[in-house]
Amino acid sequence: MSSWQVLRELLSIPSTIAIDGPAGSGKSAVAQRLAARLNYLYFDTGVMYRAVTLAALRAGISIRDEAAVSLLAQNIRIDVVPPAVADGRALTVIADGEDVTWAIRSKEVDANVSPVSTYRRVRQVLTEQMRRIGRRGRVVMVGRDIGTVVLPEADLKIYLDATVETRARRRFLENQERGETQTYDEILAAMRERDRIDSSRAIAPLRPADDARIVETTALELEGVVTAVNRLVFE
Ligand code: C5P
Repeated sequence: MSSWQVLRELLSIPSTIAIDGPAGSGKSAVAQRLAARLNYLYFDTGVMYRAVTLAALRAGISIRDEAAVSLLAQNIRIDVVPPAVADGRALTVIADGEDVTWAIRSKEVDANVSPVSTYRRVRQVLTEQMRRIGRRGRVVMVGRDIGTVVLPEADLKIYLDATVETRARRRFLENQERGETQTYDEILAAMRERDRIDSSRAIAPLRPADDARIVETTALELEGVVTAVNRLVFE
């Protein structure tokens, strides 16, 4: 056992930490901070669904064509690696050799990723890849179904929530900083639609695991969410 493992056991710090929640709940920002503090891997699993969606859009495949999108998911190679460029990214996403870190954040991908994530075969293929990485431990894994499906054995499961208006406002401010022009109302409408699809899909819908610790973030700024999550991890 390494000295780090001994120390972690003494302090009983969880090795696999699952953070789930809807878009704009603050999970990425909080997970990044936590992973940096613990020197764990930060793994945002939404990037995998986004990479498949981007590839389908670029290939001119109809997003409604489940068979074609599933085949693409089976054949694409997606790598998630620590950031190699200092341009504000928290990780680098490589799809078939190309750096798609920023391309997967486009409005088109936002609008099409939830339908893609309802496809059984797509979820199977991507969930397998996520598990391989998650089971190595020392990871903060972020998504919609990490605590319920991907890693139900995770040492600590956290579910972040906030009202849709609060989440849309956060995303609006983030986008403005990046110079994007979407209005608050457009973001709110898109987020409602994504919530609806993510929560009502038949396979692995967005919901807290029975043993997840729920953090309601509506009234909190980022610092407050970080404090609440740290309390759960280091308590
Ligand atoms: O977290 P992010 O907004 O990047 O996720 C994009 C989409 O990917 C979500 O709206 C959801 O449809 C899907 N997703 C998922 N399961 C995960 C992570 C993301 O279904 N574990």
